[in-house]
Amino acid sequence: MSKAVIVGGGIGGLATAIAFIRQGWEVEVLERSARIAEVGAGLSIWPNALRALDELGLGDEVRARAAEEGLAGIRDSKGRWLSRSDVEAVRVRYGSPIMMHRADLLDILRAAVPKSTLRTGISVSEVRSDGTVVHSAGTSTGDVIVGADGIRSVVRRAVVGEIEPRYSGYTAWRVVITPTEPIGDMGETWGSGERFGYAKLADGRVYCFAVANMPAGTPGGGLSELRSRFGTWHDPIPALLAAADESALLKHDLYDLPDLKTFVAGRIALIGDAAHAMTPNLGQGACQALEDAVVLSRVAAKDADLSRYDTLRRPRTQMIVKRSRAIGAVGQLSSPLAVLARNTLMRLAPSSAQFKALAPILDWEV
Ligand SMILES: Cc1cc2nc3c(=O)[nH]c(=O)nc-3n(C[C@H](O)[C@H](O)[C@H](O)COP(=O)(O)OP(=O)(O)OC[C@H]3O[C@@H](n4cnc5c(N)ncnc54)[C@H](O)[C@@H]3O)c2cc1C
Repeated sequence: MSKAVIVGGGIGGLATAIAFIRQGWEVEVLERSARIAEVGAGLSIWPNALRALDELGLGDEVRARAAEEGLAGIRDSKGRWLSRSDVEAVRVRYGSPIMMHRADLLDILRAAVPKSTLRTGISVSEVRSDGTVVHSAGTSTGDVIVGADGIRSVVRRAVVGEIEPRYSGYTAWRVVITPTEPIGDMGETWGSGERFGYAKLADGRVYCFAVANMPAGTPGGGLSELRSRFGTWHDPIPALLAAADESALLKHDLYDLPDLKTFVAGRIALIGDAAHAMTPNLGQGACQALEDAVVLSRVAAKDADLSRYDTLRRPRTQMIVKRSRAIGAVGQLSSPLAVLARNTLMRLAPSSAQFKALAPILDWEV
């Protein structure tokens, strides 16, 4: 039986484990953390990724624990619409995007991987060119080695050498709250160098996220800063922030990766953020990791040469990294003139423009 060693037990690593097991492979997952867990935040899963989850046999379970995403559109800080999403067109053509808690997705993935294949508390320090994985408990070998170890991947060094992630220029906050009053349309609000968004989860809680321009590593940034930045924006943003709990607040500087020249070296392949970490402006990072998992397992099952995985995945994911970065640049404009021009253009653009822009991302088939 062929064997895959997967470094990293995040969304990408677990999905890859499931995909290889379904192809009849033996799998060993090496995860640095003592237990497999996800941060307390929401995750949007688009129809392209739901197709990948269907392929893993998990689509229905995921849909059952998720809320259908409303895709309402984008407003300015006073609540005036800048653009409306053509929700129905997306639904009819591609199916409904969903919003779920990350922990729920990870639970579903973890439950589908046999316990005996998960080795937690093991940190990988090096992958040699012959495919030997060196880690804190010794070494592991396999027919395929998968780097699913995130944006600061160790496995990536064996494929393309040292690559520095790029700071986007903005930081993100995330928090899940229990609302004190019913909230209306979900959506996103764009200001000057700042954005705020919220979306309902299946259990009635609300996932909120916010973004602001600032140098990497800026200290502070607790709830009081969020309230002073966004507390005067349109309803229900002040009420959502009032219901937030400091201990549940997450703050992360946002990075992405420059284009790698390949995702594959011999029998080593990179997936997910290790290969193509992207800013979250399109909500596609985890979605692309799910697509990677399915494609890599299929290529590996057919062929000892993994280069077809690189051919199939690199152009697509790098296109999405670039689009995501471009949307972030527009969303984070901060000079008054540029913001005025952007907002005017957004008001004039037809809602079908957004639908057309999403098409090459959502129309992915296994
Ligand atoms: C603010 C924000 C919002 C986002 N929203 C969305 C969204 O709505 N939709 C979406 O699709 N994506 C979203 N993303 C992107 C998504 O979170 C990532 O793309 C996805 O989690 C990547 O999964 P991964 O498994 O590739 O990497 P990771 O989640 O980073 O997992 C890597 C795993 O490898 C382990 N590891 C690392 N190094 C080692 C080592 N040396 N040895 C052993 N184990 C190791 C880590 O502990 C970790 O468990 C968002 C990201 C951010 C920052």
